[in-house]
Amino acid sequence: GVGNALPSAKQVKLDKESELRIEVAENSPLRLRLLTGSAEIFGTEIPPEIWLTVPPRVKFAVFTWYGATIEMDGATETDYTADETPMISYVNVHAVLEARRNRAKASSSSNPDSSQGPRVIVVGPTDSGKSTVSRMLLSWAAKQGWKPTFVDLDIGQGSITIPGCIAATPIEMPIDPVEGISLDMPLVYYYGHTTPSVNVELYKVLVKELSQMLERQFVGNSESRAAGMVINTMGWIEGTGYELLLHAIDAFNADVILVLGQEKLCSMLKEVLKRKPTVDVVKLQRSGGVVSRNAKYRQKSRSYRIREYFYGLANDLSPHSNVANFSDLSVYRIGGGPQAPRSALPIGAEPAADPTRVVPVNISQDMLHLVLAVSFAKEPDQIISSNVAGFIYITDVDVQRRKITYLAPSAGELPNRILIIGSLAWLET
Ligand code: ATP
Repeated sequence: GVGNALPSAKQVKLDKESELRIEVAENSPLRLRLLTGSAEIFGTEIPPEIWLTVPPRVKFAVFTWYGATIEMDGATETDYTADETPMISYVNVHAVLEARRNRAKASSSSNPDSSQGPRVIVVGPTDSGKSTVSRMLLSWAAKQGWKPTFVDLDIGQGSITIPGCIAATPIEMPIDPVEGISLDMPLVYYYGHTTPSVNVELYKVLVKELSQMLERQFVGNSESRAAGMVINTMGWIEGTGYELLLHAIDAFNADVILVLGQEKLCSMLKEVLKRKPTVDVVKLQRSGGVVSRNAKYRQKSRSYRIREYFYGLANDLSPHSNVANFSDLSVYRIGGGPQAPRSALPIGAEPAADPTRVVPVNISQDMLHLVLAVSFAKEPDQIISSNVAGFIYITDVDVQRRKITYLAPSAGELPNRILIIGSLAWLET
């Protein structure tokens, strides 16, 4: 039976097709459990009666298709129920994708087109719920036994690894509502900055590299080909941001474009893509539950992501402080720093810095508090086309003794001496 309610706990009864929207308090976690019925958090069913501990500041919803009673214990910033949600339209999209996956699976794998499952790209302005919709579609697919590939192109607020990266990983089970995506060996490319405008060309090149690498992996894997991809994008949809969306649609050969809450973007995409009848552009309503996050919140959550990489979500990892000689490491920067905008140059002049040139960098005090990526490249000229093994955080540079101290997820030697530096910094808090 159902356990006794705790004195500080509160019970919430949810009618069918409604959700409980919660923003956990700033400084303390929230405990929550399902007492009766069934419910899910962003596409993943929650188990009955077991307490889930949701970390501070998380914003989420518990949705029920058929009705549920939820018990929660702890402080929230806000919590309220809503019976108007776009969930039916989202699950309808899932059903269409499901049919396409089944068709792809049934088709002969010798036919590269018909055996390819849906490639969905989710686009829309900031805070339209792109990551959340991506997550639901992935979790629903995984629940049916598919292993879709999640591609995250959002270098600002990505959900696979630390900021400044684009990455992909197969989703083999519904995404854990608290722990997030369980990572085996994600495919990660390091861009090194949290906004694409620092080096637009490099961003495009890395998107292309990631797409080609996935394409090669799909060749030998008809199961993941049939499951398809869900691609999450950035909220930058104007000007260059729009160009980057078109570039990503093209690079990944996306055939379903889900546009969240923006009429104008939707009709622009429909217009440019009408010469490609195999591409569906679908407008979806933004959920009223999506919480807008200001620049400060975003900065903070980037910082928490980096902390989580080294220390774990619940401080359960113990990173190692290591010391290396300058001569043990080779640090490279891609592109000659921020580019001068073309508009700032005399007419006809080309920006001098080659945005994809790989430049060796001397180790110096300037590296203090920066996050560097450990490349898999064997030679410097392979850096751009190589994914990365992980990250280190520079905590001390002793120029006199030519020694550098860094934090790494584990002790011992790094998997490679070639490191990539960008502008990603972190102040350990
Ligand atoms: P970005 O601008 O970073 O690309 P986005 O469009 O991907 O943002 P999400 O990250 O999906 O937006 O959503 C923004 C925030 O709102 C997240 O913290 C998410 O957990 C929260 N959120 C989304 N849907 C709901 C909901 N129905 N109820 C409560 N919170 C929600």
